[in-house]
Amino acid sequence: MLLRHTTADVMERSALTINPAKTCQPIGALYAALGVHNCLPHSHGSQGCCAYHRSTLTRHYKEPVMAGSSSFTEGSAVFGGQANLLQAITNMFAMYNPDIIAVHTTCLSETIGDDIVQIISKAREEGKVPPGKHVIHANTPSYIGSHVTGFSNMVKGIVTYLAETTGRKRNQVNIIPGWVEPSDMRELRRLARAMGVNPNIFPDTSDVMDAPQTGTHEFYPRGGAPIEEIRHAGDSRSTLALGPTASEAAALALEEKCQVRSEVLELPIGLLATDRFINALRHRSGIRVPGFITDERGRLVDIIADMHQYFYRKRVALFGDPDQLVSLTEFLVTLDMRPVYIVTGTPGKRFETRIREALGDAVPEAQIRQGAQADMFLLHQMIKKEGVDLLIGNTYGKYIARDEDIPFVRFGFPIIDRVGHSYFPTVAYMGGMRLAEKILSVIMDRQDRNAPEESFELTM
Ligand code: SF4
Repeated sequence: MLLRHTTADVMERSALTINPAKTCQPIGALYAALGVHNCLPHSHGSQGCCAYHRSTLTRHYKEPVMAGSSSFTEGSAVFGGQANLLQAITNMFAMYNPDIIAVHTTCLSETIGDDIVQIISKAREEGKVPPGKHVIHANTPSYIGSHVTGFSNMVKGIVTYLAETTGRKRNQVNIIPGWVEPSDMRELRRLARAMGVNPNIFPDTSDVMDAPQTGTHEFYPRGGAPIEEIRHAGDSRSTLALGPTASEAAALALEEKCQVRSEVLELPIGLLATDRFINALRHRSGIRVPGFITDERGRLVDIIADMHQYFYRKRVALFGDPDQLVSLTEFLVTLDMRPVYIVTGTPGKRFETRIREALGDAVPEAQIRQGAQADMFLLHQMIKKEGVDLLIGNTYGKYIARDEDIPFVRFGFPIIDRVGHSYFPTVAYMGGMRLAEKILSVIMDRQDRNAPEESFELTM
């Protein structure tokens, strides 16, 4: 019993977090920056922060993650990190020749109060930024927010620094995909093109964080949204922002800067959210939904109908990031499952309202918790109080799953003890099939394990 000190009785806490259901802001900023082609992310803080951010992403994606560090020492903590960042910008352009450096701050540089805008403009004035190259930034203090807000802040920074308008509209639609896997970004592109929409997707980590093995190490993999394309985002006809927590801020910044009207949708995870995504694309292109997409939808509906008896009324606990949780909750309700505990450590507005909308009147007993004290300890206490049939969340859920002997589906970030998540999408109809299959597999495995010999069935 690794978590043997967890008790079922919940004591209200106001100043203590035990095993947070989130991670730190710069990790999200770093992930977003990797979705820009030829970008070298840079962590303005100590080497320890940078090592943690890189290793977390590497463990999840099983790919090398390059990033610079301002390598703060005691001197930087006292006098500020300007000299370090100026030197870092010089070194990185000289040694690694990126097209763009994306700087994110850390707890320490934020506490010192380093003015990154001023430091970047000083670097430009002193000729440390070569012609045609870019330095952008996002403020990502980790004592507020989470990896999701860090992602959101960097995507907003990408738009604010790079997007422009020429006054000549281009026949394309910006898609800000939210924090999803590289495979999901590829799937969104496939569907958009199939729906007659020319997508301008940014950030785009496909072919960066799931780059194929070629035998040659590419410091900058071939993927990532090209800077030129991001610049043209200001000339797009409209923007589709997927996942309000991760993508809305960038969409609004683009709307304000370049007057590109935007629509914010929930992440297209599950049947209904995907329907809305396809419908939004249909409205933009004006074409009929191609038959093969209708077929993919039909196959997902077929799985739901055929397997309904196994999903029906199963109690589920889920934890993770707001955008994923909202769409996943809606999908579980579609499967006739009962999401009873829903926990996120990421702060932000409208989470509970969005979850309530996703639940409808299906699960009135659902408990929704958000914020610093909505942690893994609390989730475990809720489960101890009244058990569940299934747990869904990132790798850190395995301790609860083991102690309480609950079937467990890994979903979200980070997943550091399995592979597959970066290669197989969970968005759209194909992703819905994969999610349904994963849920069904652990439920059936449990049924087989618990079945007495006389009712141990070969078939479902
Ligand atoms: S929480 Fe703050 S100090 Fe810790 S790794 Fe993240 S940025 Fe660095």
